[in-house]
Amino acid sequence: MTEIRIGGLARLSSCDWPGQLVATLFCQGCPWACRYCHNPHLIPAKGETQIAWQMVVDFLGARRGLLDGVVFSGGEPTLQPNLESGIKQVKAMGFGIGLHTGGPYPGRLAQVLPLVDWVGFDIKAPRKAYDRITGARRSGDKAMRSLRLLLDSAVAYDLRTTVHPDLLSREELLELAAEVSEAGGKDHRIQKFRPDGCADIDLVNSLNLTSGYSGQR
Ligand code: SF4
Repeated sequence: MTEIRIGGLARLSSCDWPGQLVATLFCQGCPWACRYCHNPHLIPAKGETQIAWQMVVDFLGARRGLLDGVVFSGGEPTLQPNLESGIKQVKAMGFGIGLHTGGPYPGRLAQVLPLVDWVGFDIKAPRKAYDRITGARRSGDKAMRSLRLLLDSAVAYDLRTTVHPDLLSREELLELAAEVSEAGGKDHRIQKFRPDGCADIDLVNSLNLTSGYSGQR
């Protein structure tokens, strides 16, 4: 039976998949712990506000023909063992499929890429600085393997990097841009750290002390 742990649902969004009117499913659980995360309640594998998968399916059933697509976001969607069957179920209802991922599970990404129409890929840092950003060992290797899979596929994508001046230096950002370019990546976008939802008070406060820095995703 398909069961995807959903910790939140945006019934209508025009910004989660550029140019598309979508519903966004926030999958529960993420193996990483980025300090700038603005959905920290989605990091634990099981959350208190979980929405039953069947309720999600019923909701989408009532939106057939009204939305262009459905975005699987998170948390980290590729953490879900049943992601492939969940995507197939939603696709069979006639929706385009968008996926937000940081790429911690290249194997599962490879499994679902043929079903996906667009990927928003969070590329977090140059490979050597990855573990510092995610708090997870060897995360850079996994992310770069996932990036390779994405770039070798025919799936449309955006690459985006969240920047907080305390976490990623200008030199590291330039290094990352070079790594992305060397890999053949295009449409790499920088997005400034967004304090709303972030649970790391030190990070939020240090931003307030940084003159001239106020960002939105
Ligand atoms: S990968 Fe995304 S969801 Fe996971 S901790 Fe980092 S910012 Fe949060």
